[in-house]
Amino acid sequence: MNQETLLNLAHKYDTPLYVYDGNKIIQKYNTFKNAFDVKHLKIHFAAKALTNLSILKLFKELGAGLDCVSIQEIRLGLEAGFKPEDIIYTPNGVSIEEYVKAINIGTKITIDNISILEKLGQRFSDSPIPIFIRVNPHLMAGGNSKISVGHIGSKFGISIHQIPIVTRLIKNYNMNVEGIHIHTGSDIIDSDIFERVAQLIFSIADEFENIKSIDFGSGFKVKYKENDLSTDIEKVGKRFSQTFNEYCQKRGKDLVLRFEPGKYMVSEAGSFLANVNIVKQTTACTFASVDSGFNHLIRPMLYNAYHEIENISNPNGEKKMYSVVGYICETDTFAEDRILNEIREGDILQFKNAGAYCFSMASNYNSRLRPAEVLVLNGQDYLIRKREEFESLLRNQEVPEIENWIS
Ligand SMILES: *Cc1c(COP(=O)(O)O)cnc(C)c1O
Repeated sequence: MNQETLLNLAHKYDTPLYVYDGNKIIQKYNTFKNAFDVKHLKIHFAAKALTNLSILKLFKELGAGLDCVSIQEIRLGLEAGFKPEDIIYTPNGVSIEEYVKAINIGTKITIDNISILEKLGQRFSDSPIPIFIRVNPHLMAGGNSKISVGHIGSKFGISIHQIPIVTRLIKNYNMNVEGIHIHTGSDIIDSDIFERVAQLIFSIADEFENIKSIDFGSGFKVKYKENDLSTDIEKVGKRFSQTFNEYCQKRGKDLVLRFEPGKYMVSEAGSFLANVNIVKQTTACTFASVDSGFNHLIRPMLYNAYHEIENISNPNGEKKMYSVVGYICETDTFAEDRILNEIREGDILQFKNAGAYCFSMASNYNSRLRPAEVLVLNGQDYLIRKREEFESLLRNQEVPEIENWIS
């Protein structure tokens, strides 16, 4: 989306503002889909990356499924029109009750610990439910330790070394393993790693007679700046399809190949727009303070993530060095020592790659209100979430009737 369009939207809807390019999402989805050449492919959008109903609806229209990690995400998916069987529930550490709710709704469920496996086996011993087993392959992969979830110290999945326990429980409780699931964490660039993961998973799938699908989760890296490496989806898709088709042949059936990309689908489609309140020259640097903070976009503070920034209201200004900071009253830095077109108070900054894990991680810290969200599709803009109002902060709070508060 060009800067002029974004600037107009900032003026029309005010800042801070999230803008999503729907056509970019469609393009990413189609590129991903076309990279694979298998008989049955199902792409489940990982809802937690961007859970706005209109975005979910767009994925539904594209024919995607959904990957949900909480019962609330499942309910949002249903609201957006997904059929329960197109939703995969892949939580971690949730109660048996939440699993039962998801089962009753009719979603596919992924089990990532032996405790729940046994409990569900007992609970549904009369009518065995189909389950996916989430396996931890103990491969160290991924961009940083917080998003790398397949290694040995990770809390996710059932260890590949515990598969013998799984097969004994399955047999004993007459359960039906319909799929094997793996999610190695974000930011895997290497098609060799994908290949290794695939071979490991196939060897596990061999243990289960009734297997219908294999879910390879996600782990697709996107570019955050010019020279970043990113997953070459065409290359991964080509290699992967071949490996997968060979395995289907070996098993004598056409399995469903599933993926759960979040970041890949929506990261680049999103822009976050903020207004510069103050430009402050200190002895150390020049700060540009915007009308937002890590309450709206936490990735730089949480993961040290890099978001490219552009001054879209002064695109030809002289280049200078800035630290871009937020208004939260503690360290709140979006970017340090960035060379940007001259920033004046009142300029609008665009933060790129703001589609995934940005709005969905926003909070009300410092009693600030969450921004509005706008979808641009086929040249039209739509407000898909109103800016919060002060009343949002009061909702659900109760002040008890106490006669004498301080006696
Ligand atoms: C978070 C998550 C994803 C999506 O990961 P991305 O890096 O955003 O693609 C997929 N599957 C599961 C189970 C997840 O928890």
